[in-house]
Amino acid sequence: MKLQILSASESREFSEMEKIVDSKVSIKGRESQWELWHALSRIMSGRLYREKHSSFYAYLRAKGIEQSRVSRGISALGVKYAIEEKLWLYDRESVRMIMSEHHLRELVGLDHDAMPEVVRVASQIAEGGKITAKNLKTARAKVSAPRAARRLSHRLDENGDSVPEVMAESFSARNALNELSDRIRAIAEELKAIASRPGGQFVPCEEILAGLGNISRALVLSGFGITCQECSGLGCTSCRNTGFHPKRRLRSE
Ligand SMILES: [Zn+2]
Repeated sequence: MKLQILSASESREFSEMEKIVDSKVSIKGRESQWELWHALSRIMSGRLYREKHSSFYAYLRAKGIEQSRVSRGISALGVKYAIEEKLWLYDRESVRMIMSEHHLRELVGLDHDAMPEVVRVASQIAEGGKITAKNLKTARAKVSAPRAARRLSHRLDENGDSVPEVMAESFSARNALNELSDRIRAIAEELKAIASRPGGQFVPCEEILAGLGNISRALVLSGFGITCQECSGLGCTSCRNTGFHPKRRLRSE
């Protein structure tokens, strides 16, 4: 693979992020190393490693950082951002209690809109005590089972408009597609962990992850987006008699 030159500002950012990585990476066993995960996620998403390394994995190997640890850390960081955005304003106390990586790992892959509910249920289970990772796990299982049914009772489309009864089945297929996509993302996480173990070195990780990412996206984008405005869900040529337009179409317009 050909290595590519960084721009001046990318170069600056890379050396800033590397300083953080070098200073934080050796502090092992600590629950939260958010600065480290943030710096690594910047290096990964901006491909700031590309001047010296052929891939993010090659960069981690050169640094002697365990891939599975990074993938867990960056996943937890994503959840942390989502929690802060969704919950911080009205439930500071719970947020403070669950802000360790150990806790947030239990919420990886969860629909961000469901997070406040899961945390609320977890705090009920904790009965006023400290919320544990186990509480979150139990709460997540409780919340996600009846969720599909509840979503049907107030169905909103991609534009936030309510979905007519005639579209109920198509809308529930959308939820099934999203759940399938979540499972594929979970498989991707598992694969990353296996590939970083002895014996997994020959797994063509990047290739497979790119493939899984495409599948996961394709599933989400093919689900229900909005009710067809020309036929109000009854079926016409513009929606190919389906009554709706998939998310894919909304994105490409
Ligand atoms: Zn139509």
